Amino acid sequence: MEPTPMAYFKGAFVPLSEAKVSVMTHALHYGTGVFEGIRGNWNADEGKIFIFRPEDHFARFLDGCKMLRMNLPIDAKSLVDLSVKLVEQCGYWEDIYIRPLAYKSAEVVANLKLHELDDDFTIFALPLGRYLETESVHCVTSGWRRIDETMIPPRVKISGLYVNSILAKTDAVLAGFDEALLLNQDGSVAEGTGENLFLVKNGGLVTPPLYSGILGGITRAALIELAKNEFGISTDERPIGRSELYLADELFLCGTAAHVTPVSHVDHRAIGSTSVGPVTKAIQELYFNVIRGLQPKYRHWCVEVTPPRLSPL
Ligand code: PMP
Repeated sequence: MEPTPMAYFKGAFVPLSEAKVSVMTHALHYGTGVFEGIRGNWNADEGKIFIFRPEDHFARFLDGCKMLRMNLPIDAKSLVDLSVKLVEQCGYWEDIYIRPLAYKSAEVVANLKLHELDDDFTIFALPLGRYLETESVHCVTSGWRRIDETMIPPRVKISGLYVNSILAKTDAVLAGFDEALLLNQDGSVAEGTGENLFLVKNGGLVTPPLYSGILGGITRAALIELAKNEFGISTDERPIGRSELYLADELFLCGTAAHVTPVSHVDHRAIGSTSVGPVTKAIQELYFNVIRGLQPKYRHWCVEVTPPRLSPL
């Protein structure tokens, strides 16, 4: 038997191909969904997948549900347990991505509200290797501004919010860049389209604060802790001006999908020496070990799954 993409859908595990919704679904029209992106990292030596900080992801997921007035009949811990069962059923022996999605499932149109509408949730898992194409990316400052707290709350992953990221990313890629960086309404740096951002200046780390309109990334939080604990490098969380990016010694993006991705250029300006800087490299290496369960001190950040041996690999 081959590994199979499976979904938890309407209360049961089904093949992903059978997890379908109606074209009338409210979330499809109005973006009234909330999602998460969680990685499961394959550790070949142990024959296990290490799911990185799933309970934190599900806590953010439930915050998003609250924001959209969805009452899921399940808590973060039980969502983790469901994800583990799902990963076991899929049987992948590689890096995977787990996608929980809660959505207004009511089949209605012309109904612009959140209350008195049914909601539902699904979780599915797929193989996912590298997210950003290159080891070291060329970013462009986007003409699109990061959506503001006064418009749609950016601190949770609301589906409709991602049109903002998608506009910026599309324009960046079609213009030949790898990734877009969005400024917020005040003109200070917010984040990438699906990543938080750190710069290194004079040996210290700087990253935009939550009030800059960013998603409070789980990778971001992990890196702040790792840098402090393991390298004695503290992080200054403060608004960052666009030109500070150009003058940084090192710059990197981080996120569940993007891991720690060094940035070589912004707006055609070379960042530092353009090759991966020493601080970025150290943090990147440590992070890669942590998410695969190779650092005993941080193994509690991971939930381990031993997938069945489905295929003669
Ligand atoms: N910012 C945005 C807009 C994102 O979509 C993501 C990916 N979830 C991140 C930052 C990074 O967050 P995390 O480290 O929790 O994946």
